[in-house]
Amino acid sequence: MSSLVTTYQLLDGKRCGDALRVDIATGAAEVKAKRGRAPHLAAVLVGNDGASKTYVESKVKACESVGFRSSLIRMPESTTEDELLARIKQLNKDKDLDGFIVQLPLPSHIDPEKVTLAISPDKDVDGFHPENIGRMVLGLDCFLPATPSGIVELLRFYHIETAGKHAVVVGRSHIVGTPMSILLSRNAYPGNCTVSLAHSRSKNLAELTRQADILVAAVGRPEMITANMVKEGAVVVDVGIHRIPDASKKSGFRLVGDVKFDEVAPKCSWIAPVPGGVGPMTITSLLLNTLKASRHAFSS
Ligand code: NDP
Repeated sequence: MSSLVTTYQLLDGKRCGDALRVDIATGAAEVKAKRGRAPHLAAVLVGNDGASKTYVESKVKACESVGFRSSLIRMPESTTEDELLARIKQLNKDKDLDGFIVQLPLPSHIDPEKVTLAISPDKDVDGFHPENIGRMVLGLDCFLPATPSGIVELLRFYHIETAGKHAVVVGRSHIVGTPMSILLSRNAYPGNCTVSLAHSRSKNLAELTRQADILVAAVGRPEMITANMVKEGAVVVDVGIHRIPDASKKSGFRLVGDVKFDEVAPKCSWIAPVPGGVGPMTITSLLLNTLKASRHAFSS
């Protein structure tokens, strides 16, 4: 009979992010001393989506906390695709700028793929451009996509053993699940996992997730991963983030992930909570990529 793990430890993204940001701030000061200006990140926000505005503002705030320059470029909801592409062209050429992001989702009349392709790979600090994705697959120097790379840093910070483990990633999006599966399977630490990548067509999902030593939930469905889907002693990383209406909260909502935390956590050895797990790490990765861009770490 297997014994139930009753104490779990938190993969605390705030603590890990704060520790990494001390080094990032030192790096930013060095760049400023050498180049006469601090690393500079711009964020383009098109339209009035409330959650996107909050995300972008927290990215700008994070830049300030480590001594970066940041610019918030707001464009109206009515911005045409051509206008946005023209703005991106200008940003690609702007020598005063190390990297920039275009916050997703975009208004429905703008094709996000065209936008991703228009961003110069050497300023693509979100790591979404096919050139960066391709370099990641080949294990070459590149900008890693922020969320999976933040998860890798979180596993490293807490010395989570990964070699030979079975990692199950639920969700295959281009920005989270698919790159996560590649990073966990590469010949490196953290990595060297045997990886299963599950999605909406996967059969017997619970049977698969119960085999996971490391379970990454990036499904986009509130509290879908329940206790019966998790092996005792597993390491669980919850990527999901959802606002659930809650009249008892001042804000009127509470944040939950893709994992039903209260029932899953007691089965885990480690678990990344929502909020405070993956979220702060995603922003930290963006800062790391911007610092890298400002150092001209690889030739374009
Ligand atoms: P997407 O909606 O792009 O992808 C969701 C994936 O989950 C798809 O691959 C889909 O499969 C799969 N899926 C959906 N339903 C099921 C199901 N019932 N069983 C198995 N697989 C299923 O989401 P993202 O990857 O962009 O985001 C995932 C979550 O992470 C969201 O909650 C998002 O808000 C959050 N997020 C959090 C970040 C952070 O910094 N904390 C950053 C980015 C995202 P299929 O491909 O077959 O449709």
